[in-house]
Amino acid sequence: MTTALRRGVAVYPGTFDPIHLGHMDVIQRGSRLFERLVVGVGINPDKAPFFTLEERVEMIRLVVAPLSNVSVQGFTGLAVSFAREFEASAMLRGLRTTSDMESEFSMSLMNFNLDPDIETVFLMAKEPHSHLSSTLLRQIATFGGKLDSFLPPVVRDALQSRVRERQAAK
Ligand code: ADP
Repeated sequence: MTTALRRGVAVYPGTFDPIHLGHMDVIQRGSRLFERLVVGVGINPDKAPFFTLEERVEMIRLVVAPLSNVSVQGFTGLAVSFAREFEASAMLRGLRTTSDMESEFSMSLMNFNLDPDIETVFLMAKEPHSHLSSTLLRQIATFGGKLDSFLPPVVRDALQSRVRERQAAK
């Protein structure tokens, strides 16, 4: 690889459909470990998202605004290419369970093969967030469950109104 990577720069790639307090915790802790953290909002070709890429970027920008060394960008290609764009030497990921461990381990090995200069760094989910997933929260929202302890208020409101729009469109 030609370009030198910057030691204090990390990217945190994910789908964030939508961002929840487990993601926020990883972002806050990452912002203390790295000089600069870029949240990368990607597309998952296997799933139709609740929120468009632009909506997800916008929402995350709102909730990370107090963190001055965190920025947010959308990306459509490989996470390692996104990391290279910012000369990031590290890719941050969160681990909730042993099942995350399996998929995250394969993904980190694949990313290592694609670009061995970029190191994947894992943060273990804190206990209160270890059960949180965007998929579960979309399901709870669809069935009218309470979301206050899992999502920033602006994201909770956006998710509830997206559910209403989707139900009205049926
Ligand atoms: P993916 O990138 O697999 O589409 P997400 O966008 O939900 O999934 O997650 C992005 C990253 O955040 C992944 O590394 C995932 O393991 C991690 N993550 C998701 N939920 C939590 C949580 N509750 N606590 C800590 N990390 C999490």
